[in-house]
Amino acid sequence: MKIRDLKLYPTMVGRRHQLIIKIETDEGIHGWGESGLSGRELAVMGALRHYRELIIGRNPFDIGAIWQDLYRSQYFEGGRVLTAAIAAIDIALHDIKGKALGVPVHQLLGGKHRDWVPLFATTGAPMGPKLIEDAELLISEGWNVIRTWMHAPGEQRENGDPVYEPWESIGPTAHWLNKLREAVGDRAVLGIDYHHRLSVAEAASFCQKLGRDTLDFLEEPIRDETPEAYEALRRMTHVPFAIGEEFSSKWQFLPYIERGITNFARIDVCNVGGLTEAMKVAGWAEAHYIDLMPHNPLGPICSAVTAHLAAAVPNFAWMEIRQSPTEQLGFYDERLFPVQPVQQGPRLIVPTVPGLGVEFDEKAAEHPEFQPRAGRLLRRRDGSVTNS
Ligand SMILES: [Mg+2]
Repeated sequence: MKIRDLKLYPTMVGRRHQLIIKIETDEGIHGWGESGLSGRELAVMGALRHYRELIIGRNPFDIGAIWQDLYRSQYFEGGRVLTAAIAAIDIALHDIKGKALGVPVHQLLGGKHRDWVPLFATTGAPMGPKLIEDAELLISEGWNVIRTWMHAPGEQRENGDPVYEPWESIGPTAHWLNKLREAVGDRAVLGIDYHHRLSVAEAASFCQKLGRDTLDFLEEPIRDETPEAYEALRRMTHVPFAIGEEFSSKWQFLPYIERGITNFARIDVCNVGGLTEAMKVAGWAEAHYIDLMPHNPLGPICSAVTAHLAAAVPNFAWMEIRQSPTEQLGFYDERLFPVQPVQQGPRLIVPTVPGLGVEFDEKAAEHPEFQPRAGRLLRRRDGSVTNS
C-alpha cells in the first residue's frame, strides 16, 4: 500500500476551527487526522504542504519511520507548528493501519486496559453562586471530576480589548473555590484551569488563599517555557499541578516528569506529535507514577484518538471533554462527523470498530469558508498585554 494524497480541511465546528486532514492510499483506504494548534491553522497548513511531498508514495504502515523523517527532515527540527502537523499525519496513519488490519487503533498500541474512558467536565460559570449550582448539576448527572475557570469579569478597554487583572482575579477565585469545596465535600474531584495567566508570585498567593483540601489539581497556573520557574512554584505550594497541553514533544515533557514538577500529564495527542510520541510520554510518565489527564478541546477526531491512547495505557486519570450538562459548544456536530465515539455521560466508550472509529463528511464541511483569525489579546487596564 502507498500513500496517494494528503488533503486539508480547515473547518469551523461550533465556535472553533478544527484543522482536519485526510490521507488517501492507492488501495482506497483513507485515514483522518487533526492538528491541535488552534488559532494558527495557516501555519500548520503550510507545514503540511511541505510534508505532503515527503509522504506521498510511502508505505503508510511505516508510522515510526515516517515520524522520524518528518521531524528530522530539515535542519530546523521541532516546534509546535511542525509537531502539530506531524501529529495530524501520525493520527491519520494509525487510522489507515487499523482499518487495513481490521482492528481498532488501541490494538496497535498494545490492546485495551479499559472499556470506557472516564471524563471530566468543565464549568465556565463565573465565580459566584452559579458555580455551585453548576457543580451540583454535574454531580447529580454522575460527573464527579469538575474543572472550573478563573474569575475574569469581562471588562473591556475603550477599543474593545478584554481586560484581565491577575491580582483582582485570584482573591475572588480562591474565595469561591473554597465555598465550592465546602458545598460538594468529598463528592467531587475539583480542579481549575488558570490558563497560564499568572506569575510565580501571583500563583503562590492564589494557592495560599485556598483551604488545604480545596483543590485536587491546578492546571497551567504559569507559562511553561522555564521549568525552573515551575520548580520554584512547586516548592511554594502543596496543590498538585496538571501541566503539558502545549508541549510539542517528549523533550518538552522531560524536565516536568523527571524533576517531579507536574503531577498529571496534560498531554495533547494532536499537539505532541500524535500517538507515536504520546505513547513514549505515557511510558515515561508511568515510570514516575504520573497519570495522564489528556487535553481534548477539539472534537470527535481528537476525542477518538485520545480515547484509544487512554485505552492503551495503565496510568490514566481523566480525559477532558467539552460536551457535558454545563457545556454545549457544538464541537461534536453529527452532520460533520456522522461516525464518532459514543459518549454516555461522564464516560467515553472505547471504539471497537477498525481504525479510529470516526468519519468526517468533506461535503458537509465545504460551507462556511475557513476564516483565519489573528488571535485575541488580553490587556491589563494600563494597556499592556498579558497572557491569554
Ligand atoms: Mg488548559
